Amino acid sequence: MSEEEQNYSMFSSRILVDTIGDVSDDALKASKMKEVIGVLAGRFFNWGQRKSLFPLHLGIKCCALEMAAAGASRFDAERFGVFFRSSPRQCDVLLVNGPISKKFADPITRLWEQMPEPKWCIAMGECAISGGPYFQSYNILEGVDTIIPVDIYIPGCPPRPEALIDGFGKLREKIIRIGAMPSHARIDGNLPVIIGDE
Ligand code: SF4
Repeated sequence: MSEEEQNYSMFSSRILVDTIGDVSDDALKASKMKEVIGVLAGRFFNWGQRKSLFPLHLGIKCCALEMAAAGASRFDAERFGVFFRSSPRQCDVLLVNGPISKKFADPITRLWEQMPEPKWCIAMGECAISGGPYFQSYNILEGVDTIIPVDIYIPGCPPRPEALIDGFGKLREKIIRIGAMPSHARIDGNLPVIIGDE
């Protein structure tokens, strides 16, 4: 087949695909099927995401030992669909569990930006919430919410693994309530939840 014929067949197959796409899109719109599929798919993805939360395997200080205990055999967070992963590109929950030094602010923001939407942030322990024992220190941020929007606060120094598992449960309820919309688009109903404050 000559180059001209090849180009022609590629051109015509692209037109064919576009035409079929336009016709099926019009048919779906006319029959309201598009809205139905959108609602069903949205509910399905929302269900799938809240049943399999993937927090980033990031330990900063002593609260990280409680995070490790939550994932180990005694508390076994995987029973509740919580799977720790080591790459931000596979995660949808940033679990911050220690003081954020001003030097670490840029790297942790970069990790957050590398995570795909929709994503969520949990501040675990006093250091992540307000700086903890380092409050108003010269080199520690007064909470991770000064750089990243937080969905769930888990107070304690350190919070126990049960509190962390409860935090994931509350995050699940929040995902049911406001849907799996992107973090920058959440306005209504996006008040953070404080564990122990219900
Ligand atoms: S909140 Fe307490 S236990 Fe957790 S990282 Fe800070 S000092 Fe350590």
